[in-house]
Amino acid sequence: MQDMTIHPCTLDAGCEALRLEVRAWLDGILAGTPPEKRAESYLREDPAFSSALGERGWIGMTWPKQYGGGERSMIERYVVLEELLVAGAPCGAHWVADRQSGPLLLRYGKENIKQAMLPRIARGELYFCIGMSEPNSGSDLASIRSRATKTKDQNGDGWLLNGSKIWTSGAHLAHYMIGLFRTAPAGSNRHADLSQFLIDMAAPGISVRPIKDIMGADHFNEVFFDNVRITADHLLGNEGDGWNQVMTELAFERSGPERYLSCVRLLMLMIDSADRDNERHAVAIGKLVAEMATLRQLSLGVAGMLSRGENPALSAAIVKDQGTLVEQKLPEIAHDLFGIDLGSRGDPLAAVMGYLVQAAPAFSIRGGTREIVRGIIAKGLGLR
Ligand SMILES: Cc1cc2nc3c(=O)[nH]c(=O)nc-3n(C[C@H](O)[C@H](O)[C@H](O)COP(=O)(O)OP(=O)(O)OC[C@H]3O[C@@H](n4cnc5c(N)ncnc54)[C@H](O)[C@@H]3O)c2cc1C
Repeated sequence: MQDMTIHPCTLDAGCEALRLEVRAWLDGILAGTPPEKRAESYLREDPAFSSALGERGWIGMTWPKQYGGGERSMIERYVVLEELLVAGAPCGAHWVADRQSGPLLLRYGKENIKQAMLPRIARGELYFCIGMSEPNSGSDLASIRSRATKTKDQNGDGWLLNGSKIWTSGAHLAHYMIGLFRTAPAGSNRHADLSQFLIDMAAPGISVRPIKDIMGADHFNEVFFDNVRITADHLLGNEGDGWNQVMTELAFERSGPERYLSCVRLLMLMIDSADRDNERHAVAIGKLVAEMATLRQLSLGVAGMLSRGENPALSAAIVKDQGTLVEQKLPEIAHDLFGIDLGSRGDPLAAVMGYLVQAAPAFSIRGGTREIVRGIIAKGLGLR
């Protein structure tokens, strides 16, 4: 059984000062943004906002200065993320690049790639998407079939990519994908023979087809690879190490405060709308606030682990599981307490709830389903 202790993490005065600075800046830049837009949280894409944030030094905050980073701590980064999420800032364009692609490049990218790309990510200019899931491989990621084969032509050594990915968030906007491909036929060890590649989304042979979600939005896509050629230096890490690298990437993906703050705008509106003399309101909202406070301590504890260089995979899985449970019940509790007519116009609570009722089911699927995350926790507990 692994150690499951998540140690509390306290924020020093510098972090609190940073919080006020970020909050004041967001108050200005987001003034006039309607509540239902803010409720879209980090999914909403706004390249101008991403470059303004980059200019402030709030993307790639923890990366070395030589790659355009700020050499700030993981805890400072956490504070900035928390403020962005609570404000409902439109971070969709750069979020994946900041959260996981940049750190992955830092760890596994060739030096020329790091120098060329990381400063541009930190400036909010380069966006990334995640190429893991395939039409018949979601939870069972090791069963992917898209393949990369070695090639040599007048341009030198490289790889040819063929196959397809699905549910690729932001592929329509992303400049690059970090994709998982099979570099040898699946043998007895399904986790071997997978490799990660950096892929230019403008390369010939790539096509992107949008998938409409329940809200009519096209955040995610299908991506097809038809003899896409990439150069040898676009292999990330070592050939065949893709599985371990992808597990690192998923730990980054699952470890942030977005795993419990997706419905925070609704909670804030519920607090504003509550009848102070109504005990039902007080009990239900009080309980939710207590749960959010606990989740925040857990999530901050994960940021503390990241800052100490510890592996957060198990703790992040716990926060994601518990966080999505609370997030997903929020719209229902709001409906129960306020009996909102979702068709009513001009009521911010109704507008935000209308959006989140449709968005919330995906919270426990993206980044790994509830069952898969619980499987990780069960393994950590020594139960399987
Ligand atoms: C909003 C959103 C954004 C996404 N963005 C991306 C992205 O950018 N890039 C990307 O690569 N993918 C993305 N995904 C895909 C996501 O990672 C997959 O949907 C997820 O991993 C589940 O895979 P699947 O859809 O194939 O479902 P399946 O794996 O077919 O699962 C179906 C059901 O069976 C259950 N199940 C499966 N295996 C087991 C098991 N061993 N034990 C118990 N239960 C099991 C699952 O929990 C689920 O309930 C996104 C998904 C969503 C909803």
